[in-house]
Amino acid sequence: MSNKIYFTPGPTGLYPTVPQHIHKALEDDVCAISHRSKKYEAIHEAAVSNVRALLGLPANFHIFFTGSATEIWDRTLENLVEESTFHLVNGSFSKRYFETALELKKNAKALEVPFGEGFDLKTVEVPAGTEMICLTHNETSSGVSLVVDDIKYIRQNNPNAIIAVDSVSSVPYPKYDWSQLDTLLFSVQKGFGLPAGLGVWVVSDKCIDRSIALQQKGKSIGSYHNLPSLLSKAKVNQTPETPNVLGIYLLAKVGEDMLKRGVDTIRKETDTKADILYNTIIKSSVFEPFVKNYEYSSKTVVVANTKILPSEVNKVLSEVGMQVGSGYAKYKDTQLRIANFPGTSVEQVEKLADCLSKIC
Ligand SMILES: *Cc1c(COP(=O)(O)O)cnc(C)c1O
Repeated sequence: MSNKIYFTPGPTGLYPTVPQHIHKALEDDVCAISHRSKKYEAIHEAAVSNVRALLGLPANFHIFFTGSATEIWDRTLENLVEESTFHLVNGSFSKRYFETALELKKNAKALEVPFGEGFDLKTVEVPAGTEMICLTHNETSSGVSLVVDDIKYIRQNNPNAIIAVDSVSSVPYPKYDWSQLDTLLFSVQKGFGLPAGLGVWVVSDKCIDRSIALQQKGKSIGSYHNLPSLLSKAKVNQTPETPNVLGIYLLAKVGEDMLKRGVDTIRKETDTKADILYNTIIKSSVFEPFVKNYEYSSKTVVVANTKILPSEVNKVLSEVGMQVGSGYAKYKDTQLRIANFPGTSVEQVEKLADCLSKIC
């Protein structure tokens, strides 16, 4: 059992059932089986079908496994773009996606707003002919989210572009309308509370067609993790390479646990816990919400300015066996980042809030 409750935004604390699933995995020799065996195929199929159910994914979407979300930034750029991308940048992760496009020699353009600010998706203007628009649903560095229902405006105004959404630190919380986006990426050490080292890539048939068209034009779409390669293996519940079998097994198990709890229950509890956290920092004399526009305030990563060093806050919290994250990069000493992922309960968040409210 874990010694502490981690409210850090990634990696975060383990989802409470993970230790028992790891024990079972050892009993069942999950780490020793061949990734070409029937036993592996059953694990793969369970992980895919549970994630599919959690996301409410329609039949024209596929789920593929990679090493990380960072890898998927590369893969989307290689498979879906010949030349042009457009990025909404409002923090370190969205910026890194943009820089990745530049490193891969794409004609990448960005609309950037100051740290802590968000985007009104109704009014975003994208250059004509852009092949892929990259959105970061939840900026883990600044605690700013996009309004999920407003992604439709990006679609309406750019019907031919691929819409890619980085949802690393928000899945499974947001309820996406899958007709409004084409590809989504995440990794498992945030919202799923799993050990790091597994990326999950959701892609539509439109993406598959786009990558095949690029390949037929003689363009490079990468090697083992290009979309046609991933698809051909996924059809038989396998992966091109030897995958993170334990990670995929744990994703299947925690996915099942989350489905039993109910994704709508998880969403409601996330809202309840976010309200508790924001109310606590609004009332505090030491902390205040960093994101000023409540409409853009993240429900899954709450960022607060702090007058006390995060290390001092964590010293107090350690007395109740809890830990929060410090600010990102240059905000390391002046901000807290508090993860509000499904692995923590309303009671635990109430206890954290109680402790934070006593700090003055
Ligand atoms: C953590 C994070 C990533 C990178 O995830 P890895 O699993 O480290 O590759 C990408 N985007 C966002 C928004 C993140 O929070």
